[in-house]
Amino acid sequence: MPAGWSSRTVPRILRRDPVCRFGYPGCLGHSTEVHHLTPGVEDEAALAGVCSFCHNIETQRQAAAAAMAARRARTLANGRTGLGGHGGE
Ligand SMILES: [Zn+2]
Repeated sequence: MPAGWSSRTVPRILRRDPVCRFGYPGCLGHSTEVHHLTPGVEDEAALAGVCSFCHNIETQRQAAAAAMAARRARTLANGRTGLGGHGGE
């Protein structure tokens, strides 16, 4: 991200979202960090003020979802080339 991004944008997002946008069980309540709802997109609509607790959970969730998507893409690619087919015809 560009230099100075966090010093300008983070305080603005935290003012807009003073309360954690996720609210997972165990949520600390008030926002101290900014989460990218869409990784790599730095539009304010794609940013959310969150607490450090929920930020941690959501980051892990996104990583798990990305890993699952990658696995699914590989499986589909294998199916197209005839590897890993079901057989039984
Ligand atoms: Zn939270």
